Amino acid sequence: MKLLNGKTAIVTGSTSGIGLGIARALAAAGCDIVLNGFGEASAIERERAQIAKDLSVRVTFNSADLAKPAEIEKMVETATRELGKVDILVNNAGIQHTAPVESFPIDRWDAVIAINLSANFHTIRAVVPQMRQRNWGRIINVASTHGLVASVEKGAYVAAKHGVIGLTKVVALETATSGITCNAICPGWVLTPLVEKQIKERASRERISLDQAKADLLSEKQPSHEFATPEQLGALTVFLCSEAADQIRGAALPVDGGWTAQ
Ligand code: NAD
Repeated sequence: MKLLNGKTAIVTGSTSGIGLGIARALAAAGCDIVLNGFGEASAIERERAQIAKDLSVRVTFNSADLAKPAEIEKMVETATRELGKVDILVNNAGIQHTAPVESFPIDRWDAVIAINLSANFHTIRAVVPQMRQRNWGRIINVASTHGLVASVEKGAYVAAKHGVIGLTKVVALETATSGITCNAICPGWVLTPLVEKQIKERASRERISLDQAKADLLSEKQPSHEFATPEQLGALTVFLCSEAADQIRGAALPVDGGWTAQ
């Protein structure tokens, strides 16, 4: 028996980066998975089939746009119908936009708040009733070091991620006497498409090589000078789903090479 045999998880934004790492780690622990996110249909289907085959779990894909509450509700309904229940919810989908506050495009502000913050509210409110019925659940919100501290030109992202940590604490308190736990993971820099875009922008702005931009990005914030990895975040997620983590509630756990220790 694997740790999470018989459990079912929705991992939002799991067609890429951290979400995919978390989905793979949960599947390796025996959990059935609902993948979600954007991308090329054939690549997503290849990934879905690969995880199902390699790890002998059921894997479905749901294309819900997390900026749309009605699609989120439908995703939870479909997951519950197709896989029987939702035991674990990983709120991971996220986007970034950088600009000074006075020129921050309003539509980008709205999109970042909708996907990075409000979507967490909509998924959580949809899954908590069934978790309460079984008196077991795990809600893991992928926040960020930017849920704990700020950086310039990331007004929407920092506001959303601080909001995620606040929501995490409220849900943890509301479920404190139950078998449901709610926690946040706060990664520092992880080398994913979301960060590769920022590295490219920095290299072109400062007219430096991509390698130099990567090294500068790390040395500016992350004392270890090393990226955290999707695999490490996956392993932490599996731990948070274990019995050993029953009393970890409302925590915001940094995985940031020392960024927030400074
Ligand atoms: P990524 O760009 O590789 O992946 C983002 C995922 O979200 C993709 O699967 C994408 O399709 C999905 N997505 C985006 N908009 C969506 C929408 N409207 N509906 C459904 N899915 C949508 O990025 P990542 O770096 O893996 O980021 C994952 C999470 O980790 C985000 O919440 C991000 O803020 C957070 N995070 C990342 C880092 C980092 O350094 N990469 C650091 C801290 C926190």
